[in-house]
Amino acid sequence: MSKLLVFGHLNPDTDTICSSIVAADLINKLDLGYEAEPVRLGKVNKETEYVLNYLNMEAQREISSVGEDDLLWLVDHNEAGQSVEGREKATVVGVIDHHRIKDFETITPLYYIAKPYGCTATILFELYNQNKVEISKEMATLMLSAIISDTLLLKSPTCTQKDIDAFKALEEIAGIDAATYGLDMLKAGTDISTLSAQEVINLDAKLFEEKGKKIVVAQVNTADIDDVFSRKDEISFAIEKEISDKGLDLYMFVITDIINTNSKVMVLGNDKEVVEKAFDKKLDEDDSMLLEGVVSRKKQIAPPILANL
Ligand code: MN
Ligand code: MN
Repeated sequence: MSKLLVFGHLNPDTDTICSSIVAADLINKLDLGYEAEPVRLGKVNKETEYVLNYLNMEAQREISSVGEDDLLWLVDHNEAGQSVEGREKATVVGVIDHHRIKDFETITPLYYIAKPYGCTATILFELYNQNKVEISKEMATLMLSAIISDTLLLKSPTCTQKDIDAFKALEEIAGIDAATYGLDMLKAGTDISTLSAQEVINLDAKLFEEKGKKIVVAQVNTADIDDVFSRKDEISFAIEKEISDKGLDLYMFVITDIINTNSKVMVLGNDKEVVEKAFDKKLDEDDSMLLEGVVSRKKQIAPPILANL
């Protein structure tokens, strides 16, 4: 059987880590002719660590690049800028994703499953059911955790009825009180006290390349915006370095309050006015602004930014 590498995006989040483990489980159970192995493209964050510790599970192997002999299955992303180095040389066998599709082409036919749900794990839950594959307690906990993370406990505007239905069913199978577990899990992810500013901005940073521009939107969750913002000087310094190292036009650092579902953004780079246009709001003197009710990069931040380039 051919070996298949299953992985999510760079700067992995809980959906990326959990959904790659779950997708590999499902692929192996479906007898597609592959021996699937979940891998990851970076360090596991504290929120995901909480999940793996809860399950007494080790994180999967980390890889940094792939070659022409590799068979790949992508979850939770498709854009090249968010994927593994060398992907263009390898063969993509399948994709399970809930993001926009950008610059994606393959030489061979593939499985491509895209749904506009709030989480990759919700698509996986549907696939288990459609294929009548039994869901273990462990896989249910992983999927539930991914949904909690991507939808901020069902509070994000990206959350769909499908996510809510999956959440309820998985809560049952996992035998977890998801509200309590979920809040603890999200809170575990907000502890940045031991991280350097450079680590903080790279916890969940995504690169968008559009109209010749390079934009990074990085996000960090918190229960207290002021607590993170008190480190703004060192964070700005780390961002400036990132901008010059990578030749970026715009960098948005989004501090998201998971309790009150607001975000404060710090904006740096030459194209700062794009953010003012996108949200029809002036930046404060310190190049920040509060965006009330905004928590989703995918639905509320990236689209207006990319549209105003
Ligand atoms: Mn993700
Ligand atoms: Mn996701």
